[in-house]
Amino acid sequence: MKPLGTPLTERRRKTRNRIFKFIYNSEEPVSKQAMALELGLSLPTIHQNVSELLEAGLIKAVETQVSTGGRPPVGYVVVNNVRISIGVSITTNHIRLLASDLKLNQLAEKSVRKEGGISADLGEDVKKELELFIEENKLDRDRILGVGITIPGVLDVKKDAVLLSPSMRLENISLKSLREGCRPYPVYIENDGNCAGYAEWLAMSPQERKKSFAYILLENGVGGTFFINGKTYSGVNHRSGEFGHMCVQPDGPQCNCGGRGCLEAYCSAMRFTTDIDKSIEEFFELVHKGDPASKALWDDVLKHLAIGINNIRMVFDGDVLLGGFVSEYLEEYLPEIKSYVAERNAFGDSGDFVRLGKFPRKAGMMGIAWHFINDYIESI
Ligand SMILES: [Zn+2]
Repeated sequence: MKPLGTPLTERRRKTRNRIFKFIYNSEEPVSKQAMALELGLSLPTIHQNVSELLEAGLIKAVETQVSTGGRPPVGYVVVNNVRISIGVSITTNHIRLLASDLKLNQLAEKSVRKEGGISADLGEDVKKELELFIEENKLDRDRILGVGITIPGVLDVKKDAVLLSPSMRLENISLKSLREGCRPYPVYIENDGNCAGYAEWLAMSPQERKKSFAYILLENGVGGTFFINGKTYSGVNHRSGEFGHMCVQPDGPQCNCGGRGCLEAYCSAMRFTTDIDKSIEEFFELVHKGDPASKALWDDVLKHLAIGINNIRMVFDGDVLLGGFVSEYLEEYLPEIKSYVAERNAFGDSGDFVRLGKFPRKAGMMGIAWHFINDYIESI
């Protein structure tokens, strides 16, 4: 394998990049003729660039299925595992890790429960789990592009700190130790809701991607993001989409943020797990069995979730996607949620604008892993 050299001019690099992206985005192996035709480039140009990409181990030749006799035709595909990106999700009492290849295919995954919670300095816990994860899964360190970390809270980009994470009860915590814990890999840290929404957008069809949407992340904390014209709308202070701290009931129960009646106070998974000393599986088993107290609690969660969804719809007028680990249990309750939403909707909307995300537990890690993959693809 020969490292990919820098072409003589930026123009040539861009041509190589176009060819690589074309191969990357094709669902089937692509021939040199198809590349030349689709990209409007000469065959010698294609030939030279394909040779460079082959030598660097970024693409490989495969036999295509359609053969007209004689030598089977050859197509080219990307070597997906030539680089690895790691996504880490830090929540109230879990550290989850996911390694993916260049196509966001999952190579390894792990979820570690931290009894007693995660230490406030964050770095030590993540350092230990990251090392174990790389070792246990025998991930090739030379292929690791970087480590992306999601946090359920508002980040202060200028101070490089967690400004506030109500669900983790953190305030003004520097991210320095977290960055140092992941050395020598590049580190990127983002809000969990933004990353999860991004992963859902990536998984959409080109047609769906054109539609703006709001994404509510339902976990121990409640967060989210607005995705507008293919981008996260992060707001003036990087705090947009903090749906969890939108008031859905004045003078309602106390929220972790200090306020009252927030969506998070009603819809946090804590309310039907830790607070009543049950696991989420145990809770839903009771709901299924028709236990009156559990059913009443769950109905109250859904009704307040519907208020939150409808408020977002009123402000934003787009689809609302539900994600996070709680959303794994929502499919059977979706008609109920839609009906509660429709009851409140001033414009008679049916509630069909409420949908479930595709990756309840993984979206955040996938979204943050994509950060490094995207940079890598752009750099070729
Ligand atoms: Zn709150």
